[in-house]
Amino acid sequence: MSPAYHIPPGIVSLWLGLLIVLFTCVDAYEEISDNTLSGLLRPNNDFDIHNGALLSPILRTRVPGTPGSTAVLNHFADFFRTTLPKWTIEFHNSTAKTPLSNGKDVPFRNFIATRDPPWASVGDVGRLTLVAHYDSKIAPEGFIGGIDSAAPCAMIMHAMRSIDAALEKKWSALKEQELYGYLEEERGLQVIFLDGEEAFKEWTATDSLYGSRALATHWDDQVYPAMSEFKGPLSSISLFVLLDLLGSKSPTIQSYYETTHWAYQRLGALEKRFKSLKHFKSNSADSWFIDTENDGHRLAPMGGIQDDHLPFLAKGVEILHLIDYSPFKGFPPVWHTIDDDGEHLDLDTVEDWSMLVTAFVAEWMELEGFFDRPSSPSPRNDESAELEALRLSRKTEL
Ligand SMILES: [Zn+2]
Repeated sequence: MSPAYHIPPGIVSLWLGLLIVLFTCVDAYEEISDNTLSGLLRPNNDFDIHNGALLSPILRTRVPGTPGSTAVLNHFADFFRTTLPKWTIEFHNSTAKTPLSNGKDVPFRNFIATRDPPWASVGDVGRLTLVAHYDSKIAPEGFIGGIDSAAPCAMIMHAMRSIDAALEKKWSALKEQELYGYLEEERGLQVIFLDGEEAFKEWTATDSLYGSRALATHWDDQVYPAMSEFKGPLSSISLFVLLDLLGSKSPTIQSYYETTHWAYQRLGALEKRFKSLKHFKSNSADSWFIDTENDGHRLAPMGGIQDDHLPFLAKGVEILHLIDYSPFKGFPPVWHTIDDDGEHLDLDTVEDWSMLVTAFVAEWMELEGFFDRPSSPSPRNDESAELEALRLSRKTEL
């Protein structure tokens, strides 16, 4: 007996290859190994508050429309142009009157950087979007805003540069094997540094969130070409991760939304792993992600927090809000005081956050296997590499 038709072996292997790719894609979130976690790039001196390449240029007053704001915006643009040249950067400008502007328009300038798979059309990419505001509060005079939100901006910058080479390697490998374009959803990354989050006088619906309100409205009007996977820039945000008030010791992060609780739990799991691998510097025994063990259907976060996510949430964007707040402790003690500066940051915690965000992005983009091992691992890396080797050899014996 023979089949009624003959399938050439080449076609069989192509289909087999496709099946493997599709099977891999069903598991949309791939955990990274201990080895990879241990080898992730650390910020080292780049978070030095006086001359660190990433953080120190942000630690200055940067009230919307002032030279300080322009300098920080230039810092972001320079960073992406030189360190991450394959990213697309754009500025979204708007103007608004504020209670202190005497009827004059104040400019608000959002910074947006995007990295999509090189073969994908703009409307076909679902993006993990990392967001922080970069403006500083106008009062008290000289307010710097270390946790609010200079440090979160630097954490995001570090995470993006730490995964960029691995992402490039993965996309090149897909291209080489001609496996690109078969993914259920093309995945990209986006960074948004928002202007005008702070109120000028007193927080109201119109005196706050100037940049995020303008951007959400602008993107709501944008439509991608017909036949695109996504309707416009808002629907192409798979997850909007907002970092705010981070950089004080022992933060408390609540889970606010049932639909993104799973992503919150991933961060909680990574925190646990970093701690057990002894790769967290800040050494706080308490878990940062206090709702990790809670059922997503029974979340009861206390306190409605007004922040840059609201204009996006109102338009149906999925939100993960990472803000140091609990009803018992409130915000960190330096919040909106002159003490919220570089000196009052807990730099170990700032670094740990940057590693956590890096690992989260690495898992989201499924980058396991695409990171180069560091050339001169730290002693702690040696130790974990040995443990991993041991684990692997045990596995082989079995
Ligand atoms: Zn603030």
